Amino acid sequence: MYVTGLKNYWKLSRNLHKPLSQLQERQWDDFCALVRFAYEKVPFYRRLYHQAHFSPSDLKSPEDVRLIPTIHKKLLQEADPNGLIASGFQRQKLVHKHTSGSSGAPFDVYYTAEDRIYRTLLHLRILFHNGMGFFDRMLQISDARNVPKFRYGFQKLRILPKDFLFCGDPPKQQLDLIAKTKPEVIYSYASNMVLLAAEVRQLGKLPHQPRLIFTTGELMTPDHRKVINEAFKTQIRDIYGIVEMGDVAWQCPVVSGYHLNIDSFFVEIESNGQAAQPGQTGRLIITNLHSRAMPFIRYEVGDVLTAPREDPCSCGCTFPRIDVIAGREDDWLYSADGKRVSSMIFIIASVPGVAQYRIIQRALNYLIVEVMPGHNYNRETLERVKHHVQELMGEGTMVDVHKVDHIPRQAGKIRSVISEIGKQS
Ligand SMILES: [Zn+2]
Repeated sequence: MYVTGLKNYWKLSRNLHKPLSQLQERQWDDFCALVRFAYEKVPFYRRLYHQAHFSPSDLKSPEDVRLIPTIHKKLLQEADPNGLIASGFQRQKLVHKHTSGSSGAPFDVYYTAEDRIYRTLLHLRILFHNGMGFFDRMLQISDARNVPKFRYGFQKLRILPKDFLFCGDPPKQQLDLIAKTKPEVIYSYASNMVLLAAEVRQLGKLPHQPRLIFTTGELMTPDHRKVINEAFKTQIRDIYGIVEMGDVAWQCPVVSGYHLNIDSFFVEIESNGQAAQPGQTGRLIITNLHSRAMPFIRYEVGDVLTAPREDPCSCGCTFPRIDVIAGREDDWLYSADGKRVSSMIFIIASVPGVAQYRIIQRALNYLIVEVMPGHNYNRETLERVKHHVQELMGEGTMVDVHKVDHIPRQAGKIRSVISEIGKQS
């Protein structure tokens, strides 16, 4: 298994430097092959494509992808679960991932053991490209109190050593463990690193400086990055993953945009029913090219990204880059006159005295901001937060700021923006 894994890793790492046109050609071939496969082997897709009068032979060029109906989580939740698995795969032999999701009903995803290895290799490629070594100790701050049951055998040989920490433990306890285990690399949700940064400010010293911090699973705002950087003074790389399919895009040492794994995914960014132009913002539609047991073809995730730009990156990777991950559609706020306000522009975590925060939009003209106090918290903290939010939202919005002891997590993540008003445009 390890020989195959190493061979596959070698192939994947070579892809990083291949000419983009060659990668795109291969990507299109893989996409067409997957659509044909799903049409023949997966009852869900066969029915869907029949209803849409689509046949895989209609695919002549990448522009034709729009003939294929998109799918979304709700459609998959409502479908017969057996009809989602390709014939030839036995559900009980597949790896099963139960996704709780921060919104919506739970959902089950199935993939093969080989695909689990492939996901791991994609993940390692990001870590190694960013300078992590085979023997660097990683501390993964995760949403599970217990260490995951599944471990690769090589981890017992001290290759890629990994410790785990529960993100629900108090920040002081987490920092103590970081000081004790001295990891070269920390892997965590950004919100948890923001909390740890507040604790470092409180302590007045950093107990241990990792060489690299990887964040994932949440919207990484410039403000969060700044706060984490001020406390840990180290390199930070954010990874954009989709729980149903693994790591999709990632920051390289240049930290200018996120490289899209185009050897493993077919990505479309759509704006007003059209393909978005490079740099333009739109909704993500993604096809997972590396998993066949339960295919995801033209899956609408509900995230808003910018269309990829193809200019070369000085890190040497030829994969196109998306510039900003603008978050899910419900991560946007709306001003009283109906304008969209990105949660990326708030700098609440930088306000002295704030350890963590959450913005809840109750109505078009009413926001609540919950603030968990941190180091240097005083009477002015809430006033400053209010002033900052009011300035960005405009005078028509009423802003209430409350001090709270705790910000709830969902599956370990903290959603710093919650919209209760539904989609507006
Ligand atoms: Zn790069």
